[in-house]
Amino acid sequence: MLKENIELVKGNIKRVANKSGRAYDDITLLGVTKNVEVSKINESTKYGIENIGENRVQELNKKYGSLNDNIKVHMIGHLQRNKVKDIVGKVDLIHSLDRISLAKEIEKRSKKIGVITNTLIQVNTSGEKSKYGISPKDIYELLKEIEKMDYIRVLGLMTIAPHTDNKEVIRNTFKDLRRIMEDIKQDAYKNINMKYLSMGMTNDYEIAIEEGANIIRLGRAIYGERNY
Ligand SMILES: *Cc1c(COP(=O)(O)O)cnc(C)c1O
Repeated sequence: MLKENIELVKGNIKRVANKSGRAYDDITLLGVTKNVEVSKINESTKYGIENIGENRVQELNKKYGSLNDNIKVHMIGHLQRNKVKDIVGKVDLIHSLDRISLAKEIEKRSKKIGVITNTLIQVNTSGEKSKYGISPKDIYELLKEIEKMDYIRVLGLMTIAPHTDNKEVIRNTFKDLRRIMEDIKQDAYKNINMKYLSMGMTNDYEIAIEEGANIIRLGRAIYGERNY
């Protein structure tokens, strides 16, 4: 199943990338492995999954030591300040930086162990109260704080589309994220290098690619339905 799922997804990414005049190689496929066992995660590397995303620190740490060496781990879920120390130095990219207090903690903990931590700013483009993420108007204040720091880098933006069947609503949230990125690029902020747009999940990744995503986060499309 895993092999077939991944081949299917890769075929779709290629097709949509081609149609949109984009290069397939520019798009990183992140396997979202919450509730997926380690053996299955490791098996998926055989079929080309090199980056995985976990959304809970505890689960990430439980699996971390047993993962194949070539796997890069991303933190994609809401991050509490007191958990930051448990993941700096381990994760390749934190997708869920959404507030100044969290940036300060990442800075502090990264400095302590002498690493630079790469992050994406999670933006609440849909305005839904239940979703985490910084509201677009507050991003600039966060960027100005990060400019003063030494151990944290921002490499782009992440968003989660609203839960809806309305494709235009989903497309508009992705367009918004891209616009915000272009806007930030207008100014040369220190420590900020806007190169990644992390958007698109199982239900909406084709739209995300059309709108410029270069990291897509797929759980069910690769590992099957989750049973909670
Ligand atoms: C679960 C999750 C995904 C993957 O969702 P699927 O619908 O299984 O593809 C992507 N991003 C985040 C932040 C998630 O929590």
